[in-house]
Amino acid sequence: MTLVRVRFAPSPTGYLHVGNARTALFTWLYARAQKGAFILRIEDTDRERSKEEYVEGICRDLRWLGIDWDEGPDVGGPHGPYRQSERLGIYREHVDKLFALGMAYYCFCTPEELEARRKLALEAGRDPKYDGRCRDLSPEQIEKRKAEGRTASVRFKVSGETVAVDDIVYRTMTFDTSLIGDFVIVKSDGMPTYHFAVVVDDALMEITHVIRGEGHISNTPLHVLLFKALGYDLPRFAHMAHTLGADGGKLSKRHGACSIAEYREMGYLPEAIANYIALLGWSPRKDTDIFSLDEGISIFDVKDLGKASSRFDKAKLDFIGGHYIREADLDRLVDLAIPFLTKTGYIREDEDVDRAKIKAIVDAVRSRLSHMGQIADEARVFFEAPALDADGKAALADGDARKVLAAAGQMLEADSVESLIASVKAIQKETGVKGKLLYIPLRIALTGEDHGPELDLIAPILGTEECRRRVLSAQDG
Ligand code: GLU
Repeated sequence: MTLVRVRFAPSPTGYLHVGNARTALFTWLYARAQKGAFILRIEDTDRERSKEEYVEGICRDLRWLGIDWDEGPDVGGPHGPYRQSERLGIYREHVDKLFALGMAYYCFCTPEELEARRKLALEAGRDPKYDGRCRDLSPEQIEKRKAEGRTASVRFKVSGETVAVDDIVYRTMTFDTSLIGDFVIVKSDGMPTYHFAVVVDDALMEITHVIRGEGHISNTPLHVLLFKALGYDLPRFAHMAHTLGADGGKLSKRHGACSIAEYREMGYLPEAIANYIALLGWSPRKDTDIFSLDEGISIFDVKDLGKASSRFDKAKLDFIGGHYIREADLDRLVDLAIPFLTKTGYIREDEDVDRAKIKAIVDAVRSRLSHMGQIADEARVFFEAPALDADGKAALADGDARKVLAAAGQMLEADSVESLIASVKAIQKETGVKGKLLYIPLRIALTGEDHGPELDLIAPILGTEECRRRVLSAQDG
């Protein structure tokens, strides 16, 4: 049995976002499920737009999600190099092969000429594909154009045959390649095009399954023609339906979809993001949406991906984010919380961190978070005395509320109780107020809000002294 070999082939023209992270994740799950190899290949032939910063960012973000690779630019491997910009000699050899077979030719048409002819064809109701003008130039004509200083691209001669692709997700698709003009395989700057490099690399890297977004379906017949012309076996293709925004439009920031780096910076846990992304177009378990990557590996099959597009659902992401925060090791959350609390000034840079206090705070509010960036808001009550708004003031002006606060204030002032919580029974006894009517005024006095974490959690973290201050100040109105 051939070993499954799959690849994720990002173009480093931007950071990893939900869409391409999802391609990477499903491809990786397939490799791991099949005990095959997962290869990372950097497709950086667009010299203008590719940046090293993005290569580093993509690698960092994949690792953060828990995706590792067996071969790739930094780890090496038997089929390297794994950056297309370092494989130019290999592409050159393959172009020479196509020239030798009579399947490639130089094209001297400039972008302006091509555009003008495209326009004319469209106006005349003709197919705007390349008209094959340079297909049959004689060696003399080629030399003459070169001597004139014209730069040349290289085009592949499209045979016009019908190509059938048996896609794992989309099943059999047939393409009439006579509709495709002879396409460019080497740009006039000498760089291979995506179509050419991807085929040469998938062949030489012995990729068995090409898993990628449905946007590449229309590229596939071009690739099949190139595989065949170069004499290579075809891989299997599996195109994944897109993920759209909740409104059915192209997924973007306004749907709450961010780059993976931004989710990390917001303090989402990586296992939550990976779990959520794996649900986009796949529902492995009927009973729950929560599963680890290891569990995903044990049940994933690329055949399970459907043709229907998935919708990005920010509320679901936050629900899953919250689940993992509730499950996470508390010390790990404390480490993640500290930078956020430092940024807001709740932790002073020149002070030793009171870790025990931060731990108690994180524990008190974690059930209210979907990502750690929310900690600063949720923890405000522990660092800032509340400013009562009109509703708060009105609630405390009520007769029972005044009695409760007066009793609490007295007890705390007289030092007759060890803590606010210890005083609650005595306040009830003295005032005859109980239940919500007793707790809510105390909560508003301490936090300014009538909702939030339990009083039993808040008061000990604030300490008796701070509770006293806040109760007295609330009494003063
Ligand atoms: N570099 C291409 C992209 O990012 C890869 C497409 C493919 O997987 O063939 O879209």
